[in-house]
Amino acid sequence: MPELPEVETIKTELSPYVIGRSVKGVTLLWEGIVRQPSVEEFCSRLTGQKITTLARRGKYLLVSLSKGDLLIIHLKMSGSLLVGRDSQEPPRFTRAIIHLDGGTSIFFRDPRKFGLMRLVKDKESVVGGLGPEPLEPGFTPGLLQKLLARRQAPIKALLCDQNFVAGIGNMYADEALFAAKIHPLRMGVSLSREETKRLHRAIRRVLRAGIGRKGASVQNYYRPDGTTGTAHFEFRVAHRGGEPCPNCGTPIERVTVRGRGTYFCPKCQQQNLPPPS
Ligand SMILES: [Zn+2]
Repeated sequence: MPELPEVETIKTELSPYVIGRSVKGVTLLWEGIVRQPSVEEFCSRLTGQKITTLARRGKYLLVSLSKGDLLIIHLKMSGSLLVGRDSQEPPRFTRAIIHLDGGTSIFFRDPRKFGLMRLVKDKESVVGGLGPEPLEPGFTPGLLQKLLARRQAPIKALLCDQNFVAGIGNMYADEALFAAKIHPLRMGVSLSREETKRLHRAIRRVLRAGIGRKGASVQNYYRPDGTTGTAHFEFRVAHRGGEPCPNCGTPIERVTVRGRGTYFCPKCQQQNLPPPS
């Protein structure tokens, strides 16, 4: 699933193709991709508007339009936005095509059909509840500590909770916890000040590394030009079940935490059990 580094890469790489261009029309090959408003209103309101800026909030791509609307795209499990020409055959699994002036098209490819588009006036109705952006200056070790206070949930689940902190998903949560040497099942509240500082540093490091490598193409993530990112080649535990830990050689284990496949090193990320009573 595309996470912060993947959506950030898409934002950066899509911008030169779309900013300043007008929407000439929309073709929906799967109407379920439009969440809001109705399909008819979505297509008619979007058509004719010029794209002014692209931004990212969490895993959402925010496309600002000239008449004050905002096109909000969530790629969910398997979406990508591919740039191409109007004249070409749409790539396989294309669910929507946004036709721009100048003959450029954006193909919303989404094999699993979970991706969503919304056209709204007020973005707060969609992204207002999200947690802080982990790469913004306001996300400090002190803030993370405050967020963790009293949280009786596994740290892995908290990191993946978009209302706790925005943009982190399964892959980068596993990588950050490995880098910080914290067991994924530790309760948020149980992290020491030192562990919280390590986790804060690790979160930023793995996200920046992911952006630097243009995202992770474990499955179905493509950059707008159709190429893949390379962040997954650098993953130390994510999707590496059974492989030796790069630190200690112990086989990486996979467990399920609140329904999420979670990879960790049982030796480097030991769970501090409460002392026997
Ligand atoms: Zn290890």
